[in-house]
Amino acid sequence: MKNKENILIVGAGLCGSLLALRLGQRGYNVSIYEQRPDLRKVDISAGRSINLAFSDRGIKAMRLVGIQDKVEPLCIPMNGRMLHDRNGDTFLSNYSGRDHEYINSISRGGLNALLLDEAETLDNVSLFFNKKCTQVDFENTTASFYDYTSKTNFIEDADIIIGTDGAGSVLRKSYYLEKKFLFSFSQEYLTHGYKELCILPSKSGDYKTYKNALHIWPRGDFMLIALPNLDASFTVTLFLSHNEGDYNFNNLTTPEIVTEFFNKEFPDALQLMPNLIEDFFENPTSALGTVKCSPWHYKANTLLMGDAAHAIVPFYGQGMNASFEDVVEFDHILDQHEGNWEAVFKAYDDTRKKDTDAIADLAIDNFHEMKAHVANPIFQEKRKLEMAFEKTFPNEYSSKYSLVTFNEEVGYNEAMTRGRAQDKAILNMIADNDISMSLDMTKAELKIILEKVKRETQEILNEDQVAKTMHH
Ligand SMILES: Cc1cc2nc3c(=O)[nH]c(=O)nc-3n(C[C@H](O)[C@H](O)[C@H](O)COP(=O)(O)OP(=O)(O)OC[C@H]3O[C@@H](n4cnc5c(N)ncnc54)[C@H](O)[C@@H]3O)c2cc1C
Repeated sequence: MKNKENILIVGAGLCGSLLALRLGQRGYNVSIYEQRPDLRKVDISAGRSINLAFSDRGIKAMRLVGIQDKVEPLCIPMNGRMLHDRNGDTFLSNYSGRDHEYINSISRGGLNALLLDEAETLDNVSLFFNKKCTQVDFENTTASFYDYTSKTNFIEDADIIIGTDGAGSVLRKSYYLEKKFLFSFSQEYLTHGYKELCILPSKSGDYKTYKNALHIWPRGDFMLIALPNLDASFTVTLFLSHNEGDYNFNNLTTPEIVTEFFNKEFPDALQLMPNLIEDFFENPTSALGTVKCSPWHYKANTLLMGDAAHAIVPFYGQGMNASFEDVVEFDHILDQHEGNWEAVFKAYDDTRKKDTDAIADLAIDNFHEMKAHVANPIFQEKRKLEMAFEKTFPNEYSSKYSLVTFNEEVGYNEAMTRGRAQDKAILNMIADNDISMSLDMTKAELKIILEKVKRETQEILNEDQVAKTMHH
């Protein structure tokens, strides 16, 4: 056995626990340190997003570690977006024209617990809780910790340290503060923050609204969404400006004004949320932002992964999926360069960064799309056309959403480039009345439109390519 290096992982969240499991399966000696108590033993509210949209890139990672069968019972399929207008009328818009393509709602705690359980079955993986990493010495590959239980500090030595300690990463902070190499870092906050609320089950224990959808109340400058939980409740999230607009987090300060806001904007949701006021004033308002940095590694010693390397806004439902895909990519690169850590880290940095930059940008685009465009007629016509393409010609067309969400073999960067060109082509052609969607269209007529869209898309891609070459 050659793979006996000691790998220390900081942070046993979604990415860290999957990474510990995979590296354990590969034969490494893995120790993973988490600042919070063991979430399987202590009921800690995750502090944010109780459930998440889980899709094909994440599922691929579950296949890699062989636990897809155990994850499935945790999943609630969401076939589309259910849009709610101000009158409470609803409209279901499927995510794809192909029936087998849907996303899932999954519990953060449930999935994290499963990954920890699986990692713990391996003799060569050790889990430590209540131990907060305070600093990483990346020259000497040691990490300092504070133990909340014994109230003492200690230092751990390892061959490799990987930071999967989330958006506020201590390893990233060490890279930044110590200025020992050229480390680029950016953090951009959105004007909007979020607050979690809840739709409880009905008295008879049923879902109070349609279970198999991601509910959206798009209102232009702000929105409400809801995802189902296995216990028949929904986790509801309000995305709203911190301080702009008539209603914002800064001025929603009394029960009266919160009720007024919901009554005006989300009357049907308000009906389902008798607990609104309690939730609103008990739950925190949190910020949303994008973190980009580079490089992710230092020599052959340390590496950042998951949100620690690339935190994104949640509007594409891809942050966790991307963090899981990190582990898949890393595993793939280990196959090629195992034994040479510097080569592994460098190859990982070189191939992965463009894809996580792309999903960061796509997630910002989707923030605007979800708030506003989904309720816009040209956007809706585009969705209908794309749905018809996917349904009628399943092997010939995938929308940007499908490329990002259901095509785990296509990298995020390629999905973004192709998807944006398609969007531009279709939106321009609809606006110019070159194409339009009608329900009684024959297959042959639809095919003609598809060919037009493909030609226009290709032209846009070619122009982009020319522009890029000229830039260089
Ligand atoms: C509101 C919201 C909604 C979201 N919705 C989705 C969605 O629908 N789909 C999706 O794919 N993604 C979603 N995401 C993104 C997703 O939550 C993250 O991408 C994912 O959690 C990243 O996993 P991670 O393990 O890298 O980081 P985290 O989940 O943040 O885990 C980091 C872990 O490290 C621990 N830690 C931190 N600092 C230290 C330290 N100093 N010492 C020891 N341990 C430490 C933390 O306690 C935590 O357990 C959403 C995010 C938010 C905020």
